[in-house]
Amino acid sequence: MPHYLDSTLCTLACEFVACSIKKLDPIIKACEPFYAALAATLVTLDAYVFFTAVLKSVRRSQGLLGVLVHSAIALWLLFCVLWNHTWCIFTPPGSTLQEDSQRLQTAMTFEWRWCRKCNRPKPPLAHHCSICKRCILKMDHHCPWMANCIGHYNYHYFFLYLFYMWVGAAYSVFMTYSHVPNVMQSRSSSWEGPSFLAFLTFLLAISVFLAMCGLLGWHVFLVLTGQGTIDAFSNYYAEKDTCQAGEVCTNPYNLGPVKNWQDTFDAHGRLWWLTWALPSLQKKRGNGWQMSRIRVRPQRAASLSERAV
Ligand SMILES: [Zn+2]
Ligand SMILES: [Zn+2]
Repeated sequence: MPHYLDSTLCTLACEFVACSIKKLDPIIKACEPFYAALAATLVTLDAYVFFTAVLKSVRRSQGLLGVLVHSAIALWLLFCVLWNHTWCIFTPPGSTLQEDSQRLQTAMTFEWRWCRKCNRPKPPLAHHCSICKRCILKMDHHCPWMANCIGHYNYHYFFLYLFYMWVGAAYSVFMTYSHVPNVMQSRSSSWEGPSFLAFLTFLLAISVFLAMCGLLGWHVFLVLTGQGTIDAFSNYYAEKDTCQAGEVCTNPYNLGPVKNWQDTFDAHGRLWWLTWALPSLQKKRGNGWQMSRIRVRPQRAASLSERAV
């Protein structure tokens, strides 16, 4: 097949896929409250089984002290998961429409773009969300499980939700795996026994744990390298292009792993390595469009940030 025909077919296929995805936007918007409720319900059911079935076997093997210790751990993890989920859902991610248009125009540099849909300047790392129908500051992605976009003001809640889901799922697996042999060897077909409920919790927890390993691992990488999900892909292709041209490409928003981590969670001071994961109601610092950046040679900075907007 001639090369020009190949690329035309590829472009048409891409446009068809983009068009089909756009048509799904209203359906995603309508369904996402159910996804968010389902996520919270599954976590609550897991906790219910823990307190009604698993703690009984803890009492038999470890006594009252064991029950108190495991109750405290489970309640803390449940609280952290629901806290971060709730605040991630109800915290607006930050949009250029909430900012003063004149201030944005004054701050515009050669790296900024103009969003024709919002009719406003689009700062670096901001992207137009077709579901929310606005430009989201430091947009990571639109998440149906949160019924919200993930951006500058709620990304830390999203990350901590993944983190506590991962810890909670690992803890659930640890507490329920001993029930697996009981159920496998049992000839009873009862669906109500404590061991069977614990076995179902084990299956749910190990599935969530494996999924969270991949998702949390990806977001740990993104935080350490100072990128969002959308920008990570555009940065990857920009790096590939500049490598082929024999140049070095630098992400100007990558301040180094420790500084990136501290800035993402607003965790500073001597105990930042501990306080980053604690629940907090403090509003995220910064505004999502005036960001710290490292000094790089202009042509190198431009090659990445131009692709990132
Ligand atoms: Zn826009
Ligand atoms: Zn969105």
